[in-house]
Amino acid sequence: MAMKEFRSALGETSGPKHMSVEEFRTNGYRVIDWLCNYYEHIDSFPVAPLVQPGDIRGDLPASPPFEPVTFPEILSDVEKILLPGITHWQSPGFFAYFPANASPPSVLGELVSAGLGVQGMLWHTSPSCTELETLVLDWIVDMLALPDQFRSTGLGGGVIQDSASSATLCAVLAARERLEERSPCQTGADPGFVGYCSEEAHSSVEKAFSIAGLGRKRLRKIATDSDQAIDLGALTEHISVDLKKGLTPFFVCATVGTTSTLSTDSVRGVGLISQEYNLWLHVDAAMAGTASVCPEFRYLNEGLEKAASYCFNPHKWMLTNFDCNCFYVADRRPLNNAMSVLPEYLKNKNSEKEEVIDYRDWQIPLGRRFRSLKLWFVIRSYGIRGIQSFIRHHVFLARNFARWVDEDPDFELVKYTGLNLVCFRVKGDDTHNNILLNALNETGTLFLSHTMIEGKFALRLCIGQVWIDKEKVLESWETIKRVASSL
Ligand code: PLP
Repeated sequence: MAMKEFRSALGETSGPKHMSVEEFRTNGYRVIDWLCNYYEHIDSFPVAPLVQPGDIRGDLPASPPFEPVTFPEILSDVEKILLPGITHWQSPGFFAYFPANASPPSVLGELVSAGLGVQGMLWHTSPSCTELETLVLDWIVDMLALPDQFRSTGLGGGVIQDSASSATLCAVLAARERLEERSPCQTGADPGFVGYCSEEAHSSVEKAFSIAGLGRKRLRKIATDSDQAIDLGALTEHISVDLKKGLTPFFVCATVGTTSTLSTDSVRGVGLISQEYNLWLHVDAAMAGTASVCPEFRYLNEGLEKAASYCFNPHKWMLTNFDCNCFYVADRRPLNNAMSVLPEYLKNKNSEKEEVIDYRDWQIPLGRRFRSLKLWFVIRSYGIRGIQSFIRHHVFLARNFARWVDEDPDFELVKYTGLNLVCFRVKGDDTHNNILLNALNETGTLFLSHTMIEGKFALRLCIGQVWIDKEKVLESWETIKRVASSL
């Protein structure tokens, strides 16, 4: 075909007008300036937005633009339209849920990762993406003093997942694979797999059972003791009953730092039970795990040598922006067997030699971002010392807050486990405390969440923000007392 005919057949086009490299530079500086300005004024915004459902969408055009819009216009709409509907998770007044750290080095690491735009599904598709991840995850074994079985140099190793929920799902799938490997279920009959966690475990365990097709009912939620930790006697009893019914216990999840109160199961106790009954022990330390960067909090790792898998979230309390979960397995084979399917187009000479890690076999999606970059930026920028002092500062602030609550005759300290979450209430009934929570959040200067502890409503104040300081904690306590006394 002559070039002329070829052109007319395709309807020649030169493609869209891209942002030039020079424009990208200018706009990139604009974005960083905008973010710097945001951080400098973050405490002046109402922490939770004062908007009604539909307000934000109502201010945005209903249809996408046909003609391009300039970058300054886009950025200005972020400020004018979107900012009023933003919950300021990075505000020092944000004490709700658990934190979602976004330190400046991690944001810059994320930017570099986005700019490089690599897909690290195979070693072959970006060797640095794989090798940095393996290295950083091995560093973290040292930093948190995790047991040796999680190092990549043995049978185990670590991988970055998007979230603790995905890590738990992977653990459940690997645990099932491990048992199916031993007694392959040729008939397709239901082997009656059952798993266990405490009533205080995160809802993602139940979700994992649902997604894995095991059924939510196959997850036994074991009662907790007065410390909100799994009742070991009740766990053993449930396993025995299930065995008598002909079911197959295969999985147990222990929590180090529960979502509601930061209570911790006895990992050693659960580990002994998991050994006796040949269960896969997964340890979910999503929030509290980071604390073991400090030697004085390494009691949190007790019994971890018995775990088949472990995870924690640097995107909560290790200065790294969402998403970043570190997931470790003691033996990578069941995980890889569960996750590996090799279509022709992914075959390559490096994977064949089995000298390399292909992280696509360690997770549910195929594609994967270069997440280790932001973690590497964080660890190098702060050093272990900086991360330790971040954690110690928060624990110091939380301890003071817990003491103020405890010493105030109008308040009750409901639960404080010694880290960075304080659960408390004003003396009075649940309704009164609920009203207090809403009134506090409406002040715009702080944002708290709540939980139920042994049937009692409690406010949760979690200190884990990048920009927190003692003045803000003191100011927040004054606000809490003032609002409570005005109700
Ligand atoms: N596990 C625990 C103990 C949690 O507290 C949370 C969230 O707060 C999760 C799991 C879920 O975390 P992710 O959002 O990373 O799935």
